[in-house]
Amino acid sequence: MSSCTGPQDAKVVIVGSGFAGLAAAATLVKAGFEHVLVLEAKERIGGRVHTTKPFTENVIEVGANWIHGQKGNPLFKIAKEENMLSEGPSASKNMCLPRSVTPRDYFFKEDGKQVAKTAVDQVCLHFSKLTDKAFDDELERKHRKLTLGAYLDDAFGEFPLAATEDGQQVFEWCKRTECTDEACSSLYEVSASQISNYTALEGGFFNTLGPGGYRAVLDVLLKDLPSGTIQCSAPVKSIRWDLIRKGHCEEQRYPVQVVCDNGQSFEADHVIITVSLGVLKDKATAMFDPPLPKKKLSAIENLGFGVVDKIFLFFEKSFWPDDCAGVQMVWKEGPEDKDVYESLSEGDAWKKSWFKKITGFDTVARHPTALCGWITGREALYMENLQDSEIGDICVRLLRSFTGWSVPEVSKTLVSRWGSDSHVQGSYTFIPEGVDGVKAHKALASPLPPKDKCRGRKHLQLLFAGEATHVNFYTTTHGAYLTGVREAERLMSYYAD
Ligand SMILES: Cc1cc2nc3c(=O)[nH]c(=O)nc-3n(C[C@H](O)[C@H](O)[C@H](O)COP(=O)(O)OP(=O)(O)OC[C@H]3O[C@@H](n4cnc5c(N)ncnc54)[C@H](O)[C@@H]3O)c2cc1C
Repeated sequence: MSSCTGPQDAKVVIVGSGFAGLAAAATLVKAGFEHVLVLEAKERIGGRVHTTKPFTENVIEVGANWIHGQKGNPLFKIAKEENMLSEGPSASKNMCLPRSVTPRDYFFKEDGKQVAKTAVDQVCLHFSKLTDKAFDDELERKHRKLTLGAYLDDAFGEFPLAATEDGQQVFEWCKRTECTDEACSSLYEVSASQISNYTALEGGFFNTLGPGGYRAVLDVLLKDLPSGTIQCSAPVKSIRWDLIRKGHCEEQRYPVQVVCDNGQSFEADHVIITVSLGVLKDKATAMFDPPLPKKKLSAIENLGFGVVDKIFLFFEKSFWPDDCAGVQMVWKEGPEDKDVYESLSEGDAWKKSWFKKITGFDTVARHPTALCGWITGREALYMENLQDSEIGDICVRLLRSFTGWSVPEVSKTLVSRWGSDSHVQGSYTFIPEGVDGVKAHKALASPLPPKDKCRGRKHLQLLFAGEATHVNFYTTTHGAYLTGVREAERLMSYYAD
């Protein structure tokens, strides 16, 4: 049996070095755990936080960009205390959602005309009211069982501008854009009632970090870790648990064994698994021996994990008016229009018009000659297979035809590929229609072996953290962070008892 008696000699392996993994590691180390090892598959830390400086001295966030909410947000607290928040013009939001459309967002139609500002404002405002109703759990009974898309269609139908072409087209843009918030392929796949599980923290929704970007916040966590705590380029292949059981090998000292792709093997009293839901969907069956219980496997299968990608376009010089915060593209027949969605639901025809899923191109903080396009779902995944140069050319063509401006060739393109990144396999979690989110998130988070079945077995062998395991803050960096702290504290109280 493991001779472990307290935090100082408990061996803890953490799989993954995103916010969840690093928060768990930092919390455990501060609490006196002396044998904490983080195994990270990638050659870098951070996971879905990926701050890079690919072309200039200024950072680009390929993954998470904002700290969502202020009050009660531990990452906002760290960033504020460490003076890492952005101030001045770059502090304002740099992404256009219906809730945050500014007078500086230019909405263009495919015929090159701009949509009247009043129509944009009214539709976006109304759209926000409708989504707020869902987020605030105030849906009428008839809407509760619907998808978010179906609910919005029904509710929007009563709005006067719904009778106009511009109104309908801007409404489609709103739905398409909301897909980035929900990380879904379509709002017709998301539960309308379950999004009320998500809790938005008070304070600004789009808090931007200063010149160090999100990496600076990760660095605060790294400061607490002794050197050698993190091993990068160490993808975990299998996790054997429940190794200490009556009648099993007497010499087995630790209940869990973690084996990496390269054959390296680590024994542990506890393993905290923080890999994304996308990785669990793909690998959970092969990774765990004995297999995970059915309840957990069902949660992994039932929760949704969608793709959100960014397309950064760098130009020699800017070609948009100084007051322009972004070019938003309003299609005559956009992919989130109900009839279009239904007609494209079967077959491959949608692949020909994948670019219609791009919502628009927003200006980028600290990069005055760059734009960032947003795309989600199956279209994003399809795009990931194309060459950067082809994607850049298509975007330039779109910008030219929508705006009529003299748009130069793009000088550099940077495209995220979160869906095909084998160590992430998507962007963040959503709750599909028909799924009980609270139940699924809790099942995903529950440690193994289950408390009521521990007789004769070591407690807390496998613990689960990561964005997808938070009932209210799933999808976010602070959610991920808090789940890491949650699992560290679970171990701390185990040893305190
Ligand atoms: C494009 C995009 C934009 C986003 N924008 C925001 C935003 O503005 N604000 C916000 O709050 N959130 C945002 N998010 C979500 C946020 O980034 C995530 O919720 C959060 O970073 C998840 O952290 P995590 O620790 O749960 O998981 P991850 O960051 O995914 O960490 C898991 C780690 O496990 C590693 N791993 C996987 N498999 C293995 C293995 N077999 N062995 C070892 N290691 C493994 C991975 O490489 C990864 O480093 C965004 C995400 C994306 C993709």
